[in-house]
Amino acid sequence: MKLKVVNPATERSIAELEKAGLEETDRAIAAARAAFPAWRAVKPADRARLLRRLAAIVEENGAELALLETHNVGKPLGDSRWEVGMVADVFHFYAGAVDKHRGHTIPVAGGVDMTFREPLGVVGLIVPWNFPLMLASWKLGPALACGNTAVLKPAELTPLTALRLGELALEAGLPEGVLNVVVGPGSVVGERLVDHPDVAKLGFTGSTEVGRRVMAGAARVIKRVTLELGGKSANLVFADADLEKAAAAAPSAVFGNAGQDCCARSRILVQRSAYDRFLKLLVEATGKVRVGDPEAAETEMGPLITAEHREKVASFVNGSPIFTGEVPAGPGFWFPCTLVEARPEDRVAREEVFGPVAAVIPFEDEEDAVRIANLGDYGLSGSIWTRDGARALRVARAVESGTLSVNSNTSVRAATPFGGFKQSGLGRELGMESMDGYSELKNVFISTEA
Ligand code: NAD
Repeated sequence: MKLKVVNPATERSIAELEKAGLEETDRAIAAARAAFPAWRAVKPADRARLLRRLAAIVEENGAELALLETHNVGKPLGDSRWEVGMVADVFHFYAGAVDKHRGHTIPVAGGVDMTFREPLGVVGLIVPWNFPLMLASWKLGPALACGNTAVLKPAELTPLTALRLGELALEAGLPEGVLNVVVGPGSVVGERLVDHPDVAKLGFTGSTEVGRRVMAGAARVIKRVTLELGGKSANLVFADADLEKAAAAAPSAVFGNAGQDCCARSRILVQRSAYDRFLKLLVEATGKVRVGDPEAAETEMGPLITAEHREKVASFVNGSPIFTGEVPAGPGFWFPCTLVEARPEDRVAREEVFGPVAAVIPFEDEEDAVRIANLGDYGLSGSIWTRDGARALRVARAVESGTLSVNSNTSVRAATPFGGFKQSGLGRELGMESMDGYSELKNVFISTEA
């Protein structure tokens, strides 16, 4: 059966593709394996040059890639443009990392001891549908920079930009077989990458549930894994914060990408002494979020990815929300910006909604704020709004999350490590840290005895 790719803003089919199965996956793995010896032997400066060329080609084709992403995911065009810009930044960063990921010499008796960073071989890269191209680049950048070859599996719902990236990589001069893109179901293509003995490592981004399965499969052959999984991040607003600024920033942190963001600050924790004042500002700011045609310049939020996903998101909203926004009439899988008051133990405050629903929760003091923030299984990101610098640092150290920002909602930059505590994942992406995850450390001792 063919794979129908749908625009979530129009519900129209925009492409039909052949689905890959086991045979195609095996062929891609074989191509990557065949390309590995030559790719690892490419001079570091030349490998860097090719990644820089890939970054440039992504930039040159930025308008087309952004439009393709918007048509396939339904995200506002401005967001897609930003993401494509980050893809280019990521390839630039890892081009620069090629010859800066170094070993050490270690003082030992009787000789010289040194470490090397060796590529792993073929890596299987599995990405979700919410940031298809950007998350692919986070894995491909370090994987290729380290000298590995790759099989990339995009989500079935959103394969178009990954396929285009495969073409652009060839245009940039990457040898055939270095980057292979396979479009097919997770239960077939994904599981084959997990099981195949020639795939040395899995870079996975997706749900915690599938991540658990990937890790269990990888355990059978002690395959390396990096897992970037779900989140339920807290946005902590202290009474001494610039409340206007915090309230103006809060909506984009949870309604960006229609809430389909692993970093969504979907728990807004507000100190009780400022609660009523902040809530009023938050409702005002949420009312200003412009929802509609993803291609319109002013749009800030598009539709959800599918009708089934919309049903799941709706199941989190019971009783009467504090605020429900407006949505276009349809077609399109629209869901309004929604604010609900919640207790920390409520389902909406514990589980990842992955939609535009924020749970607003009061807290008493700093200790209470940290306690609530640390409830639950996730620990991906979060924000702290306060004018007290010492408190900002105390709380940032105490919250069990991989990425925190103070008086800001940003989470990701090419140069800084990103990843989760607890069940939000394992390992780090971005930054130099990701190079460690795509290489194996080797120790060599040379005797200097006469
Ligand atoms: P998903 O787990 O359903 O799918 C992710 C990918 O895994 C897809 O390509 C899918 O085809 C594949 N897959 C499915 N079953 C598989 C299997 N048995 N073996 C191997 N691969 C399989 O996730 P999704 O619904 O596409 O994405 C949403 C989830 O991703 C959310 O939980 C979100 O928090 C998470 N996410 C995390 C990050 C992060 O960096 N931490 C970033 C974005 C999204």
